[in-house]
Amino acid sequence: MIEVNDFHKSYGKSGKINALNGISFNVNDGEIFGVIGPDGAGKSTLFRILASLIMPDSGTAIMNGYDVVKDYRKIRQIIGYMPGRFSLYQDLSVEENLKFFATLFDTTIKENYHLIKDIYQQIEPFKNRRAGALSGGMKQKLALSCALIHKPEILILDEPTTGVDPVSRKEFWDMLARLKEQGIIILVSTAYMDEASRCDRIALIREGEFIASNTPQGIIDDYSDILWAVEGSRMSAILRELRKYEKIKTSFAFGDKIHITVDESLQIGELKQYLINRDFRDVGINPIEPTVEDCFMALTN
Ligand code: ADP
Repeated sequence: MIEVNDFHKSYGKSGKINALNGISFNVNDGEIFGVIGPDGAGKSTLFRILASLIMPDSGTAIMNGYDVVKDYRKIRQIIGYMPGRFSLYQDLSVEENLKFFATLFDTTIKENYHLIKDIYQQIEPFKNRRAGALSGGMKQKLALSCALIHKPEILILDEPTTGVDPVSRKEFWDMLARLKEQGIIILVSTAYMDEASRCDRIALIREGEFIASNTPQGIIDDYSDILWAVEGSRMSAILRELRKYEKIKTSFAFGDKIHITVDESLQIGELKQYLINRDFRDVGINPIEPTVEDCFMALTN
């Protein structure tokens, strides 16, 4: 179990950059807990503290009974940490990297092979290749293997899927689901809101604060706005037009559509007519269910 209580952390001589502003949360055994938010929100700072690499200004965290500051040696044994940027030795081969991490923790690849087998087998054919010459998805598999080789109780994965292709991203989440079944607690951060559904619970983070924390469905159930999707050609011109209409509260581009929240007095036909009058004749407007990204937008507006 992870129990974080009121973390504060600032950077700079006079503490000008407040990276964490009072973060508290718990993660239960066997959970995948996702910390989701944009760049600069404080995810890496939070994870670096939990990995005992930096200290909080105030606040405490207990992980499986150990304090991240006082018991940092023990913490480093029970966690596997995968930092955001590629952490492996580029000039060492795949196998040499894995051996190195195993040796650090006084173990061998053989001893814990069963733990990484699923993941490592996919890159084992390239075991003599330099890590620096691997694709993004393969690097990520190697980094995860290295974080797992000492049999950690808790995995801390900082934006493991950033810059990785969609197929490898999906494979990676499938791997996390299997690791969870082995009883490993997984704390993972991401800027991709669509990855929220792969977590048991999530926290949405913005400017060093959790603005919501719940199951992904719980976050969606709390959404209370009327949400429509608008589609058509000339999307940026439509968006500009929508932003002028007083009964539309918010509007933002979402893939190839525009998501809008509207005043309850507005009818779809009325908005359609407004757009037709402005020469947007091929628009479609439909009520939709919110995604976690819509919830994030609503909470930050
Ligand atoms: P995220 O991982 O969500 O992108 P970070 O934890 O990296 O967020 O950053 C949170 C804030 O702290 C940002 O404003 C960032 O610029 C700042 N920051 C992070 N690391 C440092 C550092 N070593 N020195 C100064 N400012 C930092």
